[in-house]
Amino acid sequence: MTTRIREFLRNRTEDGPCLVVDLDVVRDNYNAFAKTLPDTRVFYAVKANPAPEVLALLAKLGSCFDTASVPEIEMVLAAGSPPDRISYGNTIKKERDIARAFALGVRLYAVDCKPEVEKVARAAPGSKVFCRILSDCVGAEWPLSRKFGCEPGMAVDVLEHALKLGLEPHGVSFHVGSQQRNQHAWDRALASAAAVFKECGERGMNLAMVNLGGGFPTKYLKNVPSVKTYGSAIFKALRKHFGNRIPETIIEPGRGMVGNAGTIEAEVVLVSKKSEEDDVRWVYLDIGKFGGLAETMDESIRYPVRTPRDGDAMAPCVLAGPTCDSMDVLYEKEPYMLPVSLEIGDKVLIEGTGAYTATYSSVAFNGFSPLKTYHI
Ligand SMILES: *Cc1c(COP(=O)(O)O)cnc(C)c1O
Repeated sequence: MTTRIREFLRNRTEDGPCLVVDLDVVRDNYNAFAKTLPDTRVFYAVKANPAPEVLALLAKLGSCFDTASVPEIEMVLAAGSPPDRISYGNTIKKERDIARAFALGVRLYAVDCKPEVEKVARAAPGSKVFCRILSDCVGAEWPLSRKFGCEPGMAVDVLEHALKLGLEPHGVSFHVGSQQRNQHAWDRALASAAAVFKECGERGMNLAMVNLGGGFPTKYLKNVPSVKTYGSAIFKALRKHFGNRIPETIIEPGRGMVGNAGTIEAEVVLVSKKSEEDDVRWVYLDIGKFGGLAETMDESIRYPVRTPRDGDAMAPCVLAGPTCDSMDVLYEKEPYMLPVSLEIGDKVLIEGTGAYTATYSSVAFNGFSPLKTYHI
């Protein structure tokens, strides 16, 4: 929560929950990421927060962009970035979307299997491709499962197939899981990446690039190591697995770029109990899972909630959203500590909400508007 956000909220008169993002914080984050590793390029993961103000700022600062769809590519171009700073990093693309991206000038594509290589070869001839490998995501609070990537052994065949079809096998990518709180998580993934480099070298392909993915955390309730700490752990791992032949690297921060830049202001709609004897209160806010807090799914991401009554006695409560879907409960398995004095109508601040919130909010479920956003 910055002074600028506090000022903005003090002067805001509209009703309803809103997200305020401080662009100065995004700028500081970009500058920290740009310095994390020698010779690394920052590809901002657009899905974390695709607001035009964020994209324009990052384009001006010289950032590159990791995109997942043609509309994301178009938003990045509209923000002033040239197409040679865009990668189409989704491993699941329609061939006609690849063709559209190619027509827009994009020349860097992610793949994780031969059928996807074939699509890229037909629709984006001669482009660079990198193959995503699986990662176990241990240590991540928002793990990414086996949906993306292939076994490292298969990656070599996928890249060789790309070469045969006239593409340029450029490198390897992975993602160690989002909100990765262990800076050593990159070590194992880099061991696999180095093995792919070696095997490719033996088959006459000289790979150039390792895409280190995202995963850099935002501070929620617990402290997290700094970007600098991550940088030196990753650099050590690169040294260990690649020796003196460290390849070009790419990092794709999403959450780490914008998470701590945003604060949501919400309102307490109801405080109630299920029986007179119950000690646990239910606190209902005017924002929930469908209003932008989807990452509370399985209670994965625990946001800091500040109230005007912090400092008063605290007690556990169930925190829930305003819609008529019974899934719309934020924290229940592990109840949330809030002041006993909290009242209907109090404004609360939900911190660390600059990433993965606004675009997750539904269009009009139960008639609730999508989350209002301000980028200041
Ligand atoms: C979502 C995503 C990212 C960003 O991940 P964070 O954990 O938010 O940093 C980076 N790369 C790819 C390919 C992604 O899908």
